[in-house]
Amino acid sequence: MTEALVFRRVRAIDPASALDAEVDVVVERGRITRVGRGAADDMTVGDHVRVVEHAGAWLLPGLVDIHAHLREPGAEGKEDVASGLRAAAAGGFVDVCCMPNTRPVNDSRVVTEGLVAKALAVGGVRMHPIGAITMGQKGEQLTEMADLKDAGAVAVSDDGRCVTNSHVMRRALEYAATFDLTLIQHAEDHALTDGAQMHEGAVSTRLGLRGWPRVAEDVIVARDVLLAEYVGARYHVAHVSTLGAARILREAKSRGIAVTAEVTPHHLLLTDQALLGYDTACKVNPPLREAEDVEALRRALVDGTIDCVATDHAPHGVLDKHVEMAEAAPGMIGLELCLPLLLGLVRQGVLPLSRLVEAMTSGPARVVGLEPPRIRDGARADLVLVDPQARWTVDPARLRSKSRNTPFLGHEVQGQIAMTVCEGRVVHE
Ligand SMILES: [Zn+2]
Repeated sequence: MTEALVFRRVRAIDPASALDAEVDVVVERGRITRVGRGAADDMTVGDHVRVVEHAGAWLLPGLVDIHAHLREPGAEGKEDVASGLRAAAAGGFVDVCCMPNTRPVNDSRVVTEGLVAKALAVGGVRMHPIGAITMGQKGEQLTEMADLKDAGAVAVSDDGRCVTNSHVMRRALEYAATFDLTLIQHAEDHALTDGAQMHEGAVSTRLGLRGWPRVAEDVIVARDVLLAEYVGARYHVAHVSTLGAARILREAKSRGIAVTAEVTPHHLLLTDQALLGYDTACKVNPPLREAEDVEALRRALVDGTIDCVATDHAPHGVLDKHVEMAEAAPGMIGLELCLPLLLGLVRQGVLPLSRLVEAMTSGPARVVGLEPPRIRDGARADLVLVDPQARWTVDPARLRSKSRNTPFLGHEVQGQIAMTVCEGRVVHE
């Protein structure tokens, strides 16, 4: 049995610890015990010491995803806890929060407890359930948030459905604040998006598809910011997709309101033009927007208006996607591709590397109150080793997820997860 894992002469990058240097990092008994130049000089490969030397590699804190759909219980053909956590480990994640829009909905202690037990039995990376805001995600009666939290939920959300009733939303914000649970809103005024299949704009007109206007997101974010300010509660916006929402959030933060937000890799990389070939893999909710939105979201992520990246990993099978646009289920998988895809923005000079690392580690951890993975003496050993030069092609046969619904199949990406370590255990390499 290996008692020590040594990363020798690796570029360790942890903005939260003001660390970006070539160092040795030593892991023993699940914790980081030494970080520093020459820190592992006295350690050699042996029965109990494994030394990892990977020229040019980066060592980052383990990644955190606060928005994934693992489809269990109820749709295990698309994904389950085991496959979802394998995909997460392959993507460099050590913490994954799973959304409650399952069958049954995770609106009770028993479902949350079942998920926690399942994840522990699987034994991969850590999973944290997100409970529903309202019973059955129907937008009416609040869940027993104290029970959900007690059972292991880290946040509440009706993701996939928006809490549209202002009274229910007010009570939900107050109730969640009582139990110190982050409330995550899927911001969509459903009255404005009925039957929508993509972003409302020139492309939807050209394709003859029903549009989902930006304002359906903006009106909810604006209202929620006002409610959060009024009741003095914390508020988080899932998958921000519009320039208007980014502007509202920037203003809210400048006034000291406790709002946070996330953005997905696909909203940072793709526009509604991707739908021109009627590719249902590009149907997501909220929809891919226009170049000016992408521009605004990138700027908001860089300047901290948007706190973090979240994958919105949404697995679907062939039967849900190889159908007409109107019938296709929205969503794409994201756990295994998130970091490699976003490293492209770093190479283009759009996003500083340190900001990307922060937005995938301490940023999301802070939003839901998880212990942020860190690279420093004494920290829990949650690490990801990245080869930033390695080029690889997204091959459906090699994905760990049970589903393949991503428009990036066959694309060449640069940057590969070489190893993921969770609490000192190698969970992927
Ligand atoms: Zn959503």
